[in-house]
Amino acid sequence: MPAQKKQNAKLQALQKQKDIKGVIIGITGPLIIASGEELFMHIRLYDTVRVGSEKLLGEVIKISDSKIYAQVYEDTSGLMCGDPVYLGNGQLSVLLGPGLLGGIFDGIQRPLQSLIDQSNSPFITRGVDIEAVDRKKEWTFEPQVRVGDKVVSGDIVGTVPETEKTLHKVLVPYGVSGEVISVHKGKADGYSAVVKIKNGDTEHSVGLYHLWPVRQPRPVAQKISVYEPLLTGQRVIDTFFPIMKGGTGTLPGPFGSGKTVTQHQFAKWSDADIIVFVGCGERGNEMTDVLEEFPTLKDPRSGRPLMERTVLIANTSNMPVAAREASIYVGVTIAEYFRDQGFDVAVMADSTSRWAEALREISGRLEETPGEEGYPPYLGSRTAAFYERAGKVYTLGQSSREASITIVGAVSPAGGDLSEPVTTNTLRVAKVFWGLDASLAYKRHYPAINWLTSYSLYGNDLNPWFAKNVHAHFPEWKKEAQSLLQRESKLEELVRLVGIEALSATEQFLLMVTRSLREDYLQQIAFDEIDSYCAPQKQALMLGWIMSWFHEGTARILEEGVEALNVLRQDQFWVAYGRAKQRSFEDLLNEELIPVSLRSEFKH
Ligand code: ADP
Repeated sequence: MPAQKKQNAKLQALQKQKDIKGVIIGITGPLIIASGEELFMHIRLYDTVRVGSEKLLGEVIKISDSKIYAQVYEDTSGLMCGDPVYLGNGQLSVLLGPGLLGGIFDGIQRPLQSLIDQSNSPFITRGVDIEAVDRKKEWTFEPQVRVGDKVVSGDIVGTVPETEKTLHKVLVPYGVSGEVISVHKGKADGYSAVVKIKNGDTEHSVGLYHLWPVRQPRPVAQKISVYEPLLTGQRVIDTFFPIMKGGTGTLPGPFGSGKTVTQHQFAKWSDADIIVFVGCGERGNEMTDVLEEFPTLKDPRSGRPLMERTVLIANTSNMPVAAREASIYVGVTIAEYFRDQGFDVAVMADSTSRWAEALREISGRLEETPGEEGYPPYLGSRTAAFYERAGKVYTLGQSSREASITIVGAVSPAGGDLSEPVTTNTLRVAKVFWGLDASLAYKRHYPAINWLTSYSLYGNDLNPWFAKNVHAHFPEWKKEAQSLLQRESKLEELVRLVGIEALSATEQFLLMVTRSLREDYLQQIAFDEIDSYCAPQKQALMLGWIMSWFHEGTARILEEGVEALNVLRQDQFWVAYGRAKQRSFEDLLNEELIPVSLRSEFKH
């Protein structure tokens, strides 16, 4: 049995490798310093180690002067100098396979609650080895290849119905190609070989699970241009500052301005196939809200539980700082895995400031030369490397699939100071900036996204898409509405100086329209049962309605004077427009105050 022999030899080699050890010679917070000739001989940067008798997981982040510096992903209290440090099994990796959806993991993918093992314990066992996670759960494997087929990396060998809506694809692993020599059909667990591939003398068993190092982006055939929006159902985002599927965006804002609520809105409503939500170093109670709320929510499009398309990585501020640093990589690697299957994935990271603080803390303990505000000089390159893992791609494989990862990261600049390093470094790479504004939040204008300072570099490129798929005039209305709001801010300055009387009748009318735009269009309460989500069609109808009111009103004032507004039933308009967001799209189509010509454009 050559295969069995080979397997035994592999296991023995692994065991031997795991016996290689050094000793702790220093501990500073989450960082341990180890020495030991044997360990030193075998270790490489970013290899994992197992620390102390509990075998806590660590990762080597510096090797110098015969010393090994490793960040430990679990609480280091209790460790002592002289405790053993064992060589781990390669780089920090995640386990990829069916059962991730609906799962809740900590920053290094230890299941807090997962479909893999169905455990639901609030306590994480120390020293858990993700590689050793029980994979006995059985799945039904439906092959898509036959014996004799030639396959390459990225080809789909079969599927597993992971949830009601998501058909999980099992792929030929990276670096493997050849001829299919055996195919399994039906029940398979995480230890079964579902397909065997032969290439020359080498035989490769493809199982349902594999490990992938989190710091290494998963390869794709080609990155391609982004061209369609990731719709969120949030008017200020979709209409004014849209993001592309495969794009990057950032939400900087001071404490309490709505970063978390907005990220949750993204996670709940955006039209991605899969959502990976990384709660990185946020306060525990916020994460509890997510853990409690998400499992109860329904996907508005499929009617299925939202968790069925969601993977949660929960890493609160009281969890070890190193795990926080790793959590965004764990999240994005899981996202890449689903992208490779052909899905559009959206990653929410809340907040990358907490991740950067973790970097800073570890860098400080390594006594590296600090850059701006104590952050390590590589903050910029690390931030860019993270956002670069977003994109629209053709996946590997003979029948390559188009898929995407969109990344939205929240940033929490202290005191709302947008010139601090985490924000500036993020703004350099993220293409959409939704600037959350403390003064708007204070006035309870939610989402508190400042319409004057925010921007989307995708805006113009998306105009043709919106014109084709939503309404031919949508880009025009949007441009006009934005310019009205800009004129409003200038006119308001004037009003402050010389009073409202100084404005012409049309300017006064403009201010009434922009007030309605702000209060009735841009404001959208996340907790409102109806308005939490606003479909693009409804956004267009609401926007078209107010813009036609603006044009009609302005023209009439110029021709007949302000009294003309009463002829146009202005009182009824303001009230009806104020209620529009509470009404369904179908109901709005019957609103007699909306010009018939406009309504008829939406009816077919
Ligand atoms: P941050 O994460 O920036 O500290 P949160 O997202 O926790 O802020 O928001 C603070 C509060 O602001 C929320 O508890 C909520 O009351 C309010 N809020 C923020 N955004 C919205 C929204 N879109 N709709 C309604 N309320 C909101």
